[in-house]
Amino acid sequence: MPQNEDCVVSYTDCLHGEDLCLQVDFTDGGSEQIVLGSETDDHCIFDGFFLSEPERTVAATSPDCPIKPSSDLHVTFRHPKCKGMYNNIYQSSENREYPKRPVPKPMKSHFHKMPEGRQNITASNFTYQFPSTGFDLRMMVFYDRGFLQQHYHNKYYARQTVQKLIAHAKQTYLTQDKCQYLKMPKVHFVIEDIAAMDWSFPQGEDMYDYFLSDELWYFTRNYHVEADLYHYIQYNPDGSGIADLTENKVDGPGVCNPDRGMRKAISGWTGDHNDVQYNGGTFAHEIGHTLNMHHDFVHPSGMNPPSEDMCDRGDRYWNGVSCTWMASVMDYWCDSEKEFYKDWSCCSIDDFKYLYNKRIQKYGKYCLDTHSNTCYNEETDGYCNYKKSRGYCDYAYYYHKACRKTCKQCST
Ligand SMILES: [Zn+2]
Repeated sequence: MPQNEDCVVSYTDCLHGEDLCLQVDFTDGGSEQIVLGSETDDHCIFDGFFLSEPERTVAATSPDCPIKPSSDLHVTFRHPKCKGMYNNIYQSSENREYPKRPVPKPMKSHFHKMPEGRQNITASNFTYQFPSTGFDLRMMVFYDRGFLQQHYHNKYYARQTVQKLIAHAKQTYLTQDKCQYLKMPKVHFVIEDIAAMDWSFPQGEDMYDYFLSDELWYFTRNYHVEADLYHYIQYNPDGSGIADLTENKVDGPGVCNPDRGMRKAISGWTGDHNDVQYNGGTFAHEIGHTLNMHHDFVHPSGMNPPSEDMCDRGDRYWNGVSCTWMASVMDYWCDSEKEFYKDWSCCSIDDFKYLYNKRIQKYGKYCLDTHSNTCYNEETDGYCNYKKSRGYCDYAYYYHKACRKTCKQCST
């Protein structure tokens, strides 16, 4: 085991008949097992958890569909004994030299002006606590024509890439980082649909103008599906993104705005299938802006447009603790040698909770639905009954996840 590796993931045989099982070896000699099932019929997007700890979720996707014993695997999870969320397996000849943790590039993006009082946050006692079950975020996802072209004009492959990206991005919202008395709530993605756009979005600086244009605002506000967020994925080699930032205002843009056209984000897709976690990170970052999360740094210029050096930045503080240079979701990743992608900073949780409290004070409730933790099957009842009849309720994946209701026979 190389010295700088803190935990190593490898394929292992499944003891309980799941679709895919992995072993994680830690430097202290211990190991854990991960069990996963395929979310889709094509057996290339996997969703699972640690066998000893079903609340600790894992996403795994492969460039190969269906997956083979020789396939590379992109694995995302958070574990206190592992440095970052990305713990990949590279074994194919073309990717063997690829780093286990993909090197983050400084994310090219818009800079937002930091609202008054948010640069150095003084910790406050919030009246309203987040619901213990977290929230549901209903999302309508689109991809542009450039994205489709990169998938040989095949909507099946394009959709598959979108699903992979979401599988990794959602892990960020299922880990619950704590910061003293602050705890990030789980935000459960509910994907309303994935739709293809007929046109390509402009790239480079023009993308920012397009985001602010009447054209995109009008399209979004008139789209026939109701959602909390309209998230556009565009082919964009620089991987940048932009979102409706709530700006700390109770009626500001973002997921709580009554106008659909003010609840949108664009996330870039770089075109490299080995960037699936990086692109998923951008997707998660842009969602953060729509929840009132600002950047985890302060830019000397104070605001737009991006300067030449993305990493020329100052620290942002929460209660005297720096939120910068931790490779958190709302930071830029500037030093890949030292930074390992984590999740939420204290500043991010405080930003979210600040607006959550302001909304409840003004309207008596928050705009996102509280997640319902009732017992349900993720697969259809018919499928679960069939699995149960074949004895699959003894297998962890079905018992804890796919057929929770059928296998546990709980009432709803
Ligand atoms: Zn940003």
